[in-house]
Amino acid sequence: MSSAMGGAMSEAPTPGARNAWGPNAWGLRGHDAAVEALRRAIRSGHLAHAYLIGGPSGVGKTALARRLAATLVAPSAADPTVPDLDTRAARQIEAGSSPDVERIAIGGMCDESQHDHAGDRSTRIRICQVRRLERVSSLAPFAAPFRVFIIDTADDLQTEAAHAILKTLEEPPPSARFILVAADPDALLPTIRSRCQEFTLRPLPHHHLAAALQEDAALPAAEAAALAHLAHGRYGLAMRMHADPTMAVLRESAEAEVLRLATGSRNERFDVADRLGNAWYRERESVLATIDLWREWWRDALLAGAGVERGVEGASANIDCNAADALRALRAVQTAREHLLANTSAQLALEVMMLDLPTLPLSMLGAASLEHADGTEDRVAATAGG
Ligand SMILES: [Zn+2]
Repeated sequence: MSSAMGGAMSEAPTPGARNAWGPNAWGLRGHDAAVEALRRAIRSGHLAHAYLIGGPSGVGKTALARRLAATLVAPSAADPTVPDLDTRAARQIEAGSSPDVERIAIGGMCDESQHDHAGDRSTRIRICQVRRLERVSSLAPFAAPFRVFIIDTADDLQTEAAHAILKTLEEPPPSARFILVAADPDALLPTIRSRCQEFTLRPLPHHHLAAALQEDAALPAAEAAALAHLAHGRYGLAMRMHADPTMAVLRESAEAEVLRLATGSRNERFDVADRLGNAWYRERESVLATIDLWREWWRDALLAGAGVERGVEGASANIDCNAADALRALRAVQTAREHLLANTSAQLALEVMMLDLPTLPLSMLGAASLEHADGTEDRVAATAGG
């Protein structure tokens, strides 16, 4: 197996008989480079103990993690580098009920009988959940050669929980495999990161996603194109918005608000801080969802501003703001989020954020509606198979 691609970590379409937007060997839309790198690792017996899958929310990190797990637990008889999705084991993995594949997420199980994280409004993955993972990961698998643990997401790990995960990654039980997914790998402990092999997933070019949505969600062309744009090229996010139209509305209004804040006066900003600060005590989840959308938006703007994310299309990518402003905004939003979760005064946390946001010129509002030039396609000759 040889590849003309510069590195296995970057994304590029794999040529073949299928359409560029068609499902790949693991039945996923996009992330071909990651899939092929993982297939090579399985084929050569050089599977890492831990993988870190980074990328914006809704891009397909969990979907990729599950397909990797399915390939390890339920490989196809004809080709052990692809999952047999028709097996009961693979269906259990997709449904989250496999005995050998466990997802560690906010609100999950632990060994403390008096804890109920599903009902206690946990906002982080707790240390007790990681202690349970430590115990279970050393047990023999039920039916598969491996036990697979998907940390979804590593961004949500409490500080002590992150240190505990690190210990497990430093001395991984032989039959355990760990897949960490993270929207913000830069914010993880560097020591966790260095223990993992890392992949970064990128959004699909809008026309690829639109074509996929026409096939998978039976949407008319214009609707598919609009949804692809609103989802910033993220397949999972587009499908979720398709299933729940209120998400699309929430997203649209949050994007409009982030633009208004970036160009607005101090008074306008403080009005928003006031409104959200009051809402925090009643509708914590929806305030957090709004803050998360803002964070995503500035993260996209940062990647676009730094010129690293050629593949990103969408409102923030069209904003010609420099990377330093975007980074400042991202830090301000992130800090506010942390203070809110740490039960600092919500009002104060949000006001500080508003003061720290950069002020962009009003002309940015016009720039946001410009269509993004599509020069995103990489046509790289690579030989598939082996
Ligand atoms: Zn607990």
